[in-house]
Amino acid sequence: MRKPVFAANWKMHYGPQETRAFLLKFLAAYAPRDDRTVIFFPPAPSLAVAGFALRDRPDVLLGVQNVHWEDKGAFTGETSALMARDCGATVALVGHSERRQLFGETDEMTARKCAAVVRAGLTPLLCVGERLDEHERGITQSIVMRQLKTGVSRLEKSQLATMLVAYEPVWAIGTGKTAKPEDATLVHSAIRRYFREALGGQPDSLRILYGGSVNADNAAELVAAPEIDGLLVGGASLEVDTWTRIVGT
Ligand code: PEP
Repeated sequence: MRKPVFAANWKMHYGPQETRAFLLKFLAAYAPRDDRTVIFFPPAPSLAVAGFALRDRPDVLLGVQNVHWEDKGAFTGETSALMARDCGATVALVGHSERRQLFGETDEMTARKCAAVVRAGLTPLLCVGERLDEHERGITQSIVMRQLKTGVSRLEKSQLATMLVAYEPVWAIGTGKTAKPEDATLVHSAIRRYFREALGGQPDSLRILYGGSVNADNAAELVAAPEIDGLLVGGASLEVDTWTRIVGT
């Protein structure tokens, strides 16, 4: 039985003060549960405040939205995985579609980032997913497999078992369109098969999240679908009551 993951990607919302206020309100509303994992991904300047707010709640994890592949150096504007860890982060998003689409992140960059994340002792949450044109051309699985294979190519087999993967069709992110649970299940199954066959990983423990226009009304159906082990949520994670409902799904 895989413990479901509910992950909040706040994107470029909530500085330190708003982050603190949100987390205090959420923690008051959400009693610790050991049957699920909750992760917050605030923007980098809010990480330290979030780490402090979550210090007595080991059931709620902190993640960074993006890291550089180097540990330190002359990379103005970037954040290293080590710095995120210093703030209390234990997870790092890698290859979110907004990074790929808006900031030119390639599959090879995601591979280097996954390696940096693991090197720093954090868990990578690798995001994969096809664009609308790729979806319409029926090449979803080949796109997802290409992103996945390259993304994990610099990891040791032993490091694969504990990583997280999110299938996020680009056409579903922030659009109000959600993949049908049965379509997402097919992609998730292919991802798990890849871990089993090609990598000799431990696919049974691998948690594969779905992301793309999840809200309080569709969360239950999605997370109940076969092979969907959790949800990565953007817009609907920005409001405490909605997010608390989703986490309680
Ligand atoms: C995301 O940012 O990963 C995401 C899935 O966004 P939204 O839930 O807003 O579609």
